[in-house]
Amino acid sequence: MLIIGCHLSSSGGYLAMGKEAVRIGANDFQFFTRNPRGGAAKPLDLEDIRAFEEYRKENGIVSVLAHAPYTMNACSKDAGLREFAKNTMLDDIFRLDNIEGALYNFHPGSHVGQGEDVGIQLIADMLNSVLKPEQKTTILLETMAGKGSEVGRSFEEIRAIIDKVELDEKLGVCLDTCHVFDGGYDIVNNLDGVLDEFDRVIGLERLKAIHLNDSLNFLGCHKDRHAKIGEGGIGLQAITKIINHPKLRNLPFFLETPNDIDGYQREIELLKSCYK
Ligand code: FE
Ligand code: FE
Ligand code: ZN
Repeated sequence: MLIIGCHLSSSGGYLAMGKEAVRIGANDFQFFTRNPRGGAAKPLDLEDIRAFEEYRKENGIVSVLAHAPYTMNACSKDAGLREFAKNTMLDDIFRLDNIEGALYNFHPGSHVGQGEDVGIQLIADMLNSVLKPEQKTTILLETMAGKGSEVGRSFEEIRAIIDKVELDEKLGVCLDTCHVFDGGYDIVNNLDGVLDEFDRVIGLERLKAIHLNDSLNFLGCHKDRHAKIGEGGIGLQAITKIINHPKLRNLPFFLETPNDIDGYQREIELLKSCYK
């Protein structure tokens, strides 16, 4: 069974997201833990979470992925912004630990001219100050397109972060198809080779989720512009191979394509029809 869903608005709470997911034929979903440009989270509503977990069991929602706000930069030059990133992640994990098997995805950060080595160290420092043995949520490092000074543009950079984290059993990776393609990994012509490289450098057991996006641009352009499925440089044929690949086909896929909810529903239908 294909595990597929899309990014949803969290404004109505968990139960509302669960119902919206089921309505459009999804069995997973992603949402922002708070305004993607930063800001406070809504009060934690345990009643809503209880109702959602019950609905989820009855309706087979397999996976829930929370996305951290974009403003979170663990390797900022500014100590205040690094502190904000740390506190945001702490608060998000505290909330997400109430959701069964929650995954929490974040952009590792931008080193803003300090160099990737400093960036990698600061990101690992933050994770070491945030992660706790009793925490249930799995933290996912997202593979990045390498726009500007983004850290996580190569599998090696992701590996270097993981290597510096003590409680690394709490860490996984979310592979964004648009980002890795923009980062220069040819998932169109050499998917097997890219997955072998991922396995060799990071280890496929770390791969916990896929952001399924087409790219407006071409291989290695470091632009990070998402396209609708089949309307970009990756194309429907390569995306069909990705969702059916024996090493990927059982992972949860999350669409972050430029769509309204009807567009997402159509893409989910399309992808289900491409899944063998
Ligand atoms: Fe992201
Ligand atoms: Fe993504
Ligand atoms: Zn992106």
